[in-house]
Amino acid sequence: MGEFDLIKRYFSRPARRAVLSVGDDCALLAPSPGQHLAFSTDSLVEGRHFLPTVNPALLGHKALAVNLSDLAACGATPRAFLLSLTLPRVDEAWLSGFAQGLWALADQSDCELIGGDTTQGPLHINITVIGEVPRGLALLRSGAQVGDDVYVSGTLGDARVALEVFRGHLSVPENVFSQARSRMEQPTPRLALGVALRGLASSAVDISDGLVGDLGHILKASQVGADIEIVRAMPLLACAPDLDLPPAQQLEFVLAGGDDYELVFTAPPHQRDAVVAAGIDSDTRVTRIGTLRAGQGIQLIDEQGHALAHQFKSFDHFA
Ligand code: ADP
Ligand code: MG
Repeated sequence: MGEFDLIKRYFSRPARRAVLSVGDDCALLAPSPGQHLAFSTDSLVEGRHFLPTVNPALLGHKALAVNLSDLAACGATPRAFLLSLTLPRVDEAWLSGFAQGLWALADQSDCELIGGDTTQGPLHINITVIGEVPRGLALLRSGAQVGDDVYVSGTLGDARVALEVFRGHLSVPENVFSQARSRMEQPTPRLALGVALRGLASSAVDISDGLVGDLGHILKASQVGADIEIVRAMPLLACAPDLDLPPAQQLEFVLAGGDDYELVFTAPPHQRDAVVAAGIDSDTRVTRIGTLRAGQGIQLIDEQGHALAHQFKSFDHFA
């Protein structure tokens, strides 16, 4: 099968909302009135972001999910995406699995594939997503204020539990592993929550490299510090009750686990009821874990209200 047959077979569908889709030199989109276009791109590299043995349908899902997570963090609605694939060979079983996982999430999130590129080489997947957000309503990293509450969506650290099991550093019961593994392999982009937080959250970012690191981006951009209450953060590790993990390790997974694809966001205290309502409306668990203060960096606060020394760091490809 040649390059063009491959594209036609697995990655072409008639245009839906796009003016022009796969098959020409460019795709064409008409922006909706009153909206800004939002762009983001993310790559997945074999051996770095996924294991060679991963189920291709799950990889198709994850490649798009991590990109949609960036749109969610901006409060944007998905419109379209571009797919650049570098493949070692044409493996039809792999391609049909990958395409199935990709299309399922694309349909579910109403995001259409409008173009891309296909070349030969070591397996590498790059997706660029395009979304829309009403002018002036994008959620940024820079809007947080001293006194705001800090919240996170969903659960944190479970993907890291799965990674540690794969690495042979941790052994957990089979049912716990399968749940943790699905958190690692099938993240849920928090798109509905992102939309519900428009005009409500003062800042937001998605958590891909760990809570401490990604919240750190908000703190830097907004020039504030944060107090995070350990008693509120610890229960975010969903599989903790089924495991015999020392508290320090639980805390590390929650604060610096990585691969969570949840949102961390801030909102003024008078918006607490509205934030709860946004969580309910979007069917997403939302937990308040701390507050912003003057200064910089993250301070962990224990049950007695004392500051706790910590050295949690986020994942950095070049550190
Ligand atoms: P060009 O030579 O102009 O770069 P290509 O030959 O790379 O175009 O691609 C032909 C058409 O197929 C283009 O419309 C391109 O957007 C689309 N395309 C290529 N690879 C993919 C892919 N993996 N998924 C979706 N569309 C693709
Ligand atoms: Mg090309």
